[in-house]
Amino acid sequence: MADFELLADEGHTLARELERLREQIKLSGSVEENSSKNVLAILRLCPGLILDDWQSLSTSFNLAEWLAMPLQGDLYPQILHLQQRMSNLAHLSDHDALTGLSNRRAFERALDLEIERSRRTHSSISLVVFDIDDFKRINDTYGHPAGDKVLVALSSVLEHEKRRYDMAARTGGEEFSLVLTGAGLLRAQSMVERVLESVRNLRIEHNGNVIGLTCSAGIASYKGRVDMTLAGFVELADNALYEAKRTGKNRYVSAPIPDMAAPLPESTLVHSSEKKFLFTGIK
Ligand code: GH3
Ligand code: MG
Ligand code: MG
Repeated sequence: MADFELLADEGHTLARELERLREQIKLSGSVEENSSKNVLAILRLCPGLILDDWQSLSTSFNLAEWLAMPLQGDLYPQILHLQQRMSNLAHLSDHDALTGLSNRRAFERALDLEIERSRRTHSSISLVVFDIDDFKRINDTYGHPAGDKVLVALSSVLEHEKRRYDMAARTGGEEFSLVLTGAGLLRAQSMVERVLESVRNLRIEHNGNVIGLTCSAGIASYKGRVDMTLAGFVELADNALYEAKRTGKNRYVSAPIPDMAAPLPESTLVHSSEKKFLFTGIK
C-alpha cells in the first residue's frame, strides 16, 4: 500500500481518465453477449506503472473490466514507437507543416465552436485575417525558399503576440488567421496594431539579402447577440481585409459589428451612437 501512496496522484489521474472513457463510450451488454458482434480492445501505455500498483488501483476504483498486461522484452519500445507515429500523424492532420501553426481545418473547427459559445454566453470573440502584402514579389525577387522563411517569421510574430488561449492558424498560402476568444473590437485592434508594427520591423536574412515586409488585416468582432455562421463571420473579416488592401495595404480595417443590428433592452431609448459605444467602446 505504501507504494500505491507514492503513485497516488498519477494513479488517480489514470483512474479518472478511465472513468470518463467508461462514461463516454457507454458500453452496452457484456463481452459474452457481444461476442458475435464487434469488440474493440483499447490499449493505453502506462510507463512506470507496475502490476502490483495496478491491482491496488483496480480494487480502489472498481476498474475490474480493464485488463492490464505487463509489456516485456522489446514490445514496449515497439508500441511506444507506434504510438508516437500515430500522435505525429494526428498532429499533422491539424497543423501546417511549414510553420507549425494550426491549419485551416483546425481553425474552422475551433472558430465554429467559439461562435457557438459566444452565441450561448454573449461573450466577445474576434477574428483577424492577415495577408502578406505583395508576397508574390518577395518570391519572385528572392526565391521560393526566401518566401518560406518570411512565412515562418510571420508565424513567429503571431505566436509571440497572441495570448496562450488564442488560436493562430495558417489559413491559406500567405494568409493567416487569429481567433481571439473573449476579445472585443478594441482589444483586437490594439493587438493587430502590435502585430502590424512587429511585421514592419522584421528583417529576414536570406543568401546575403535582408528582406522586409508588411501585411494587411481584416478584423471581425462578434458578441453573440445575433445568429452567425462560420462562413458569414469569415466573410466579414475577408471583406475587411479586402478593403485594407484596396485602400493602400500595410493597414487594417474593421468590419461592422453584426450585433449592432440586434435589439437592445429598451432599444427605443438608445440612440444609434450610444449603441455603437455599448458594443465597441468607440464614441
Ligand atoms: P497582395 O498584396 O494583393 O496580397 O499581393 P500578393 O502578391 O501577396 O498576393 P498574390 O495572391 O498575388 O500572391 C500570393 C503568392 O503566395 C503566390 C504564391 O506563389 C505564394 N505562395 C503561396 N503559398 C506559398 C508557400 O507556401 N511558400 C511560398 N514561398 N510562396 C507561397
Ligand atoms: Mg493572399
Ligand atoms: Mg498577399
